Amino acid sequence: MKVFINPGHAPGIDPGAIGTFGTQEANVAAIIGKAVKRYLEEAGQEVALLQDDSLEKVCEESNRFGADFFVSIHCNSFCSPTANGFEVWVNRSPSILAQKLAACIEHQVVCTFPDLFDRGIKQGGLYVTKYTDAPACLVECAFISNPTEEAWLSDPDWQDEMARAIARGITDAML
Ligand SMILES: [Zn+2]
Repeated sequence: MKVFINPGHAPGIDPGAIGTFGTQEANVAAIIGKAVKRYLEEAGQEVALLQDDSLEKVCEESNRFGADFFVSIHCNSFCSPTANGFEVWVNRSPSILAQKLAACIEHQVVCTFPDLFDRGIKQGGLYVTKYTDAPACLVECAFISNPTEEAWLSDPDWQDEMARAIARGITDAML
């Protein structure tokens, strides 16, 4: 199947959220996104990846590619450093397949990281979930504004485990 991966923001142009220790969301998303792409390709899937500050371009490319699934990868941020955990966003009134995609990713991530609080699946009008034709979700891996989670997000082993979990979730949604 065809999967479109969109690491959020754009290194050097739009860093996204920045942690206390200087970790930039765009860089973390790029690393995890590229690893997700690699794991999916190893599993025989056709994958396109685009990280771009134009969300319009991201959605156009995904639609042109004819993606079966669209997954955007981000890090969360909040004014309070205690906010924590993992969440997945789907569009308002999501399709059955979008809900399945989000639930499969949530399940794999939560099982992989027992210390990562599960904030659940949320519905909203996010641009990339709204304007992509494919069943879509946006993953907020953890809070870059939480020093403990910022350390996880900048750890290559943690990034790799997160990428594997997201990739497993996507392939689970294909079954
Ligand atoms: Zn973001």
